[in-house]
Amino acid sequence: MNIELIAYTQGNPLLKKYKDIAPAELCAIAAAQCYQSTPKAATISGCIRRGHESVIEHANFTFLVEGISRACLAQWTRHRLMSYSVKSQRYCRENEIDMVQPDTVDKDDPVWKEAIEKAWNAYNKLIEQGVPKQDARYLLPNACCTTMVVTMNARSLRNFLKLRMDSHAQWEIRKAAGIIYGIVMEAAPTLFEDLKTS
Ligand SMILES: Cc1cc2nc3c(=O)[nH]c(=O)nc-3n(C[C@H](O)[C@H](O)[C@H](O)COP(=O)(O)OP(=O)(O)OC[C@H]3O[C@@H](n4cnc5c(N)ncnc54)[C@H](O)[C@@H]3O)c2cc1C
Repeated sequence: MNIELIAYTQGNPLLKKYKDIAPAELCAIAAAQCYQSTPKAATISGCIRRGHESVIEHANFTFLVEGISRACLAQWTRHRLMSYSVKSQRYCRENEIDMVQPDTVDKDDPVWKEAIEKAWNAYNKLIEQGVPKQDARYLLPNACCTTMVVTMNARSLRNFLKLRMDSHAQWEIRKAAGIIYGIVMEAAPTLFEDLKTS
């Protein structure tokens, strides 16, 4: 699994007054606007504590996510407020090498190996017979890897982290959430520092 932050809300030299703005500062400007006060970092922590979370919807984060399973993708895309661009199984031919195998299954487990091999052989055979990739893929396992670009605002991201870093979440999405938490704690700690990791 590889997760990279590829873009997030930041200032721009063209925006003279706001050229050095960071995600939390933008949210602080939005919050201060509500009260016609001066933007302060502490205002944001207070808003989050009180549940006035719409002010953190102004900060956005975009990640490139590689090497997660389709099983994990199905869980991730339940987060409806995020924007997704996922590798198309209709147009891209899948590759047997790109698979996620859970630790609970032994690396050489014959049951796993045989099932995967059968599925891939059948997938490849159907394509050779002229069946479109979009139809042959119906045979592919949930272990199949995928890649996506996903964008979310800080409020949606906090909801994702709360739910998916929790011990009830499955290991793969939990791992992804842990990586993302580490990244955003560097990019915008004020927006996420109250979320605990376990
Ligand atoms: C441990 C765990 C187990 C799960 N098990 C299952 C399962 O067995 N089966 C299953 O189907 N799903 C399961 N889910 C998925 C879960 O039900 C959510 O769909 C998923 O976590 C996305 O959360 P969300 O709706 O808060 O996120 P988002 O879709 O990003 O929504 C964010 C927030 O916006 C608000 N919101 C969004 N849409 C609506 C709406 N239509 N109405 C009202 N408020 C809305 C809510 O406040 C919501 O929390 C599981 C999730 C977890 C973490």
